Amino acid sequence: MSTDLMVGIAELKAAVRNVPNFPKPGIQFKDITPVLGDARLFASLVRHLTSGFKRGDVDAVVGIDARGFIFGAAAAMELNTAFVPIRKKGKLPYETYEQSYDLEYGSSTIAVHTDAVKPGSRIILIDDLLATGGTAAAAVVLLKRLGAEVLDVVFFIELAFLNGREKLPGVPVRSLITY
Ligand code: AMP
Repeated sequence: MSTDLMVGIAELKAAVRNVPNFPKPGIQFKDITPVLGDARLFASLVRHLTSGFKRGDVDAVVGIDARGFIFGAAAAMELNTAFVPIRKKGKLPYETYEQSYDLEYGSSTIAVHTDAVKPGSRIILIDDLLATGGTAAAAVVLLKRLGAEVLDVVFFIELAFLNGREKLPGVPVRSLITY
């Protein structure tokens, strides 16, 4: 896609659908499916997520279960590089490292294959949305354990009022749209 066909951030933001009280009362869910459902928006979003990087700069794009897989895999194609999934515990078949983190109620655990990236690999971590930052912070712990160099942690959406960035000290954090 040539640069002049790219959609700007404002148009991407306008396409995000707010769904009140999902998955529970009081949560306003940011539904990205309208962006995925429009080829021009989706392609532009991937270009924005990978902006600042060119082919050869990155050894792998890492995506977080589950919507991070959609953007992460597309970003890996864009940068002609590998894709690595970080999954919910119990889903990856080979040896894994695991990291738990707190949720509003209870906790969750994510995992990565122990051989997912070589030590020293330059990686970008991608997810759809930064809320409290617990998920992304746990993913960064896993990546450091693998010896990866985290070049960038990129989100389509940041809920800035939840201060998720504070859980990601020492790594560059970027988001395209903020609420
Ligand atoms: P957190 O660990 O609190 O930063 O939560 C981030 C994860 O939860 C992301 O992978 C999002 O997909 C999901 N998430 C949290 N809040 C929302 C929301 N309001 N709308 C959509 N997804 C959300």
